[in-house]
Amino acid sequence: MALIVQKFGGTSVGNTDKIKAVAQRVLSCHKQGNQMVVVLSAMSGETDRLIGLARAVQQMPDLREMDMLVSTGEQVTVSLFAMAVKEAGSDAVSLLGDQVTIQTTNMHTKARIKSIDSGRIKRHLDDGKIVVIAGFQGVTEEGDITTLGRGGSDTTAVALAAALKADACEIFTDVEGVFTTDPNICARARKIDRISYDEMLELASLGAKVLDIRSVGLAKRYKVPVHVRSTFTENEGTWVVEEDKNMESMLVSGVTYNKNEARITISKVPDQPGVAAKIFLPISDAGIVVDMIIQNTRAGSMTDLTFTVIRSDYDRAMKLLEQVAAEINAESVSGAQDIAKVSIVGVGMRNHSGIASTMFQILAREGINIMMISTSEIKVSCIIEEKYTELAIRALHEAFALDKENVPAEEQV
Ligand code: ASP
Ligand code: MG
Repeated sequence: MALIVQKFGGTSVGNTDKIKAVAQRVLSCHKQGNQMVVVLSAMSGETDRLIGLARAVQQMPDLREMDMLVSTGEQVTVSLFAMAVKEAGSDAVSLLGDQVTIQTTNMHTKARIKSIDSGRIKRHLDDGKIVVIAGFQGVTEEGDITTLGRGGSDTTAVALAAALKADACEIFTDVEGVFTTDPNICARARKIDRISYDEMLELASLGAKVLDIRSVGLAKRYKVPVHVRSTFTENEGTWVVEEDKNMESMLVSGVTYNKNEARITISKVPDQPGVAAKIFLPISDAGIVVDMIIQNTRAGSMTDLTFTVIRSDYDRAMKLLEQVAAEINAESVSGAQDIAKVSIVGVGMRNHSGIASTMFQILAREGINIMMISTSEIKVSCIIEEKYTELAIRALHEAFALDKENVPAEEQV
């Protein structure tokens, strides 16, 4: 007998027919002798609808009241789900975050889970009930309802799996799993069977659509095996698990991109101690997140500094830097928003050299210029012109033979 946590997203519980279908699916797993904990999102579109209502009433909605409001979406689906199970002749009980108790910090609309009391859940499971828990919500020590941020139900599921020491956490969604790249760009993208937590974290921009990335960090910390799969088929999806030898034999496991960044360059910055601090302090004070940073030495006592920010912060960052540039006597500030970051990810890179240069060759063959490069142990990223993103993705996917399963390292370089 296994204890399984299954989470279903909004599209899987979008109406009462879908809720009944999902209940059947959970019941068949239950009838095989498993203890079942189900975590549900609100019906698709419901959280957006509720946020819209709030904005129609208060310009900048009060965050505590916002949590009171948006947490109701999940209350609807869990109660209906429990009814569907009962209608089918089995027993279930629905629980909200404060009934569990899922204790969180008091940062309304983006609270973090502090602890989970598993006692009540276990009692219901021992009574043979299917336990249905509202995703995305928790409660503060004072008893106020909180929510975990958009997409937070995945985190609820993984946190429950960790607290209950569940055998698996299955995240059901409307796609088949995690792919080697975006299937909308590359028709030969392949579903990945098994991927390590670290790779999944690096593949955030691919994974974010199927799995909320905060939940992956949690899964890694508590070693929760996560199975991302489709609600609408019986097919196996992608297992996100601890790294193993097999994964290492593959150098590159995925190609990803991010069109959400912009580049900023400050030219001819005086090359003196303290200058970088002067540049980045106002940026971080303004809450602007910086991703890649490159600094170069030029001949003489000047240097150029280039970095990327999230595109929506570009205008603010440029304004701040024009002030800073004047203060530190830098020559000019320039930037571009039409850039993209293309990355290759794979744990096999740890023990192999030459992957980065292979990537550069592939891009060169396509005539794509690389503006910035950054690497981590298991990732190489290049900033290129945005209009070449699709071309770069397809070329890299093809050259690293990602459409084929278990390609030996020799054939990937
Ligand atoms: N219902 C919430 C949202 O739409 C939480 C979730 O679905 O994970 O963001
Ligand atoms: Mg989601």
